[in-house]
Amino acid sequence: MTVGGEPGAGGRARLRVEADQVLTGDGSGQLIADGAVDIDGAGRIVAVGRRENLGPPPTEVRTVGGLLMPGLVNAHAHTPMTVLRSAGDGLPLERWLREGVWPREARMTPEDAWWGMTLGSAEMLLAGVTTSCEMYLFEEAVVDAVAASGARLVVTPGVIAALLPDGDVAGRIAQLVDFHAGHHRPDQLVTVGFAPHSVYDLSPEQCGEIAAVAGANDALFHIHLEETRAERQLVIDRYGKTATQVLADAGALEGRTIAAHGVWLDATDQRLLAEAGAAVAHCPQSNLKLGSGVAPVLDLLAAGIGVGLGTDGAASNDDLDLWEELKLAPLLARGLSHDPGAMDAATAVDLATRSAARAIGLSDVGVIAPGARADMIRIDLDQPAFRPGLDLLTHLVFAGSSRYVTDVWVDGRQVVDDGVLTTVDVERAMAEVGERGRRLAA
Ligand SMILES: [Zn+2]
Repeated sequence: MTVGGEPGAGGRARLRVEADQVLTGDGSGQLIADGAVDIDGAGRIVAVGRRENLGPPPTEVRTVGGLLMPGLVNAHAHTPMTVLRSAGDGLPLERWLREGVWPREARMTPEDAWWGMTLGSAEMLLAGVTTSCEMYLFEEAVVDAVAASGARLVVTPGVIAALLPDGDVAGRIAQLVDFHAGHHRPDQLVTVGFAPHSVYDLSPEQCGEIAAVAGANDALFHIHLEETRAERQLVIDRYGKTATQVLADAGALEGRTIAAHGVWLDATDQRLLAEAGAAVAHCPQSNLKLGSGVAPVLDLLAAGIGVGLGTDGAASNDDLDLWEELKLAPLLARGLSHDPGAMDAATAVDLATRSAARAIGLSDVGVIAPGARADMIRIDLDQPAFRPGLDLLTHLVFAGSSRYVTDVWVDGRQVVDDGVLTTVDVERAMAEVGERGRRLAA
């Protein structure tokens, strides 16, 4: 590397992080050996490359070895549900919601949600998941908890007619417009969207109205879509058309849309989503655990639909470790298509990073590139699973795991240091969630 030189000369870098390998995450799977990433004082990446090709180092240089890659992006989560982990196990979606989840959620307090979000955010950061797109109630608690953990947050407060005591959907929408005005602060790691639960919970008019409000605020419209066959049939029986067609006809796909699951989308639905520029959050582990099926992810990609991986909530997964989806997505795509070439490791990584970030409306995270936010993780390559090391990217997807994540930066700030999360009292959060989870289950 270049040594000496005038500190900080030739750039605005405050910190240089040097690693044995840098996976930039530009979709190509290219690795930079003996790489370095320069980060400015505002948490933005200003240069990436081989150490010898970068300018003089800034005053602070950290040589970490291993692999640097973009932080993972969880495109669909209900993270406070860590307090409901294991609720309703073995039930299909409809009964899982009505018997396992909603009765407990009706008893939840904002403090329960805060501790659930805190523990889940800790779980994600320790696994190298630096951003999550949250669909949940208790939005104030979600924002507050993540501000403390230091993760990046896309918060899309839910509108669930079945849970509104007086069915006042209009009142809830008005509340969320105020919430957007008060909390949408991308420069402080928080982006706010709107999340109608589903077409089977809300009317087409209500979905259209929420989409219009989201559009007027240039905000993300986040909805569950085509998760189970029974739900698909319910909507067809009620409206004589699929949920996707209901949304399209209600004008609800005209803004930035992310549809969670998409397991049962047919070719017409896929065409409508592609034409609308909508994205799908692919949640293979949740869909398998609830027996819902497997989304046609290869068809979605072929149709030009943006796809990001998601865990869904901790009661349908049951963890928030996106490395499992990173491995499961290509395995399922290959297994079901009988084609081992159907999804390569670079594509899988893309679905967990850059593509997921785009799907939730973030254009400057999910990559290590000049101009991007410095959301990065370090992987310890000095592990048996990473030998012989001839194809590191394939090792990462098919032999890798969250347990090899040692360091995490969000917006240039290091929040996990040598396996220790420095922002959250994890022991306390575990104790709180244990106690609160038992109370909610009683
Ligand atoms: Zn969900």
